[in-house]
Amino acid sequence: MIFRQLFDKESSTYTYLLADPATGEAALIDPVLEHVARDSKLVAELGCRLVSVFDTHVHADHVTGAGKLRELTSAKTHVSARGGAPCADVEMQDGHVTRVGNIALTALATPGHTNGCMCFLVTAEGEPLRVFTGDALLVRGCGRTDFQEGDAATLWRSVHEKLFSLPDDTLVYPAHDYRGFTVTTIGEEKRLNPRLGESMTLESFVTLMKNLDLPPPGKIHEAVPANRACGQRP
Ligand code: FE
Repeated sequence: MIFRQLFDKESSTYTYLLADPATGEAALIDPVLEHVARDSKLVAELGCRLVSVFDTHVHADHVTGAGKLRELTSAKTHVSARGGAPCADVEMQDGHVTRVGNIALTALATPGHTNGCMCFLVTAEGEPLRVFTGDALLVRGCGRTDFQEGDAATLWRSVHEKLFSLPDDTLVYPAHDYRGFTVTTIGEEKRLNPRLGESMTLESFVTLMKNLDLPPPGKIHEAVPANRACGQRP
């Protein structure tokens, strides 16, 4: 499997490229509008063609590149049926499986940061198990629950029921990092995540999330309506 982790400095967003070298089929997870040229050039340089684009959720901090990439490549865009983005070609339910060559991406509904948050469990022969966690689970952190449809108790249950039940050595790739981390594992986060890990309870998590007192994301008023239209400004 071809696998690349790409970064947007402005919003600290990770975009992931997955491709099957045998068939040349490629997918992008969470592309950023400003990097559509970079990402599509990379896909072409690697001898691949983009067939699927996934958004882990309707983002509030950047505009998705999904709609633009669909226009350029005719790739199919995927978002949760609960995401409120009817522009997508495929509205996924929990358990939805997409095949990209020999790679299988299984959607796991993990609401809490937003209602439509989905993680993607990725399996391919001879590859370690990987999960792309969007903003549900970050390296030693998690997404906020104080805007869109955020709800801390829902996020706690999503992470504990859907993610912490995966094998401990599952590699975890988040949608963002603000401190320079790139990857973690389920076992590491169960042990060490200061919000959702073993040192916390549902009650202490809900209190902590209620008191974060962060400023709203800079682009929220532009990004949310744009992302409901797959990044093509409504
Ligand atoms: Fe987010």
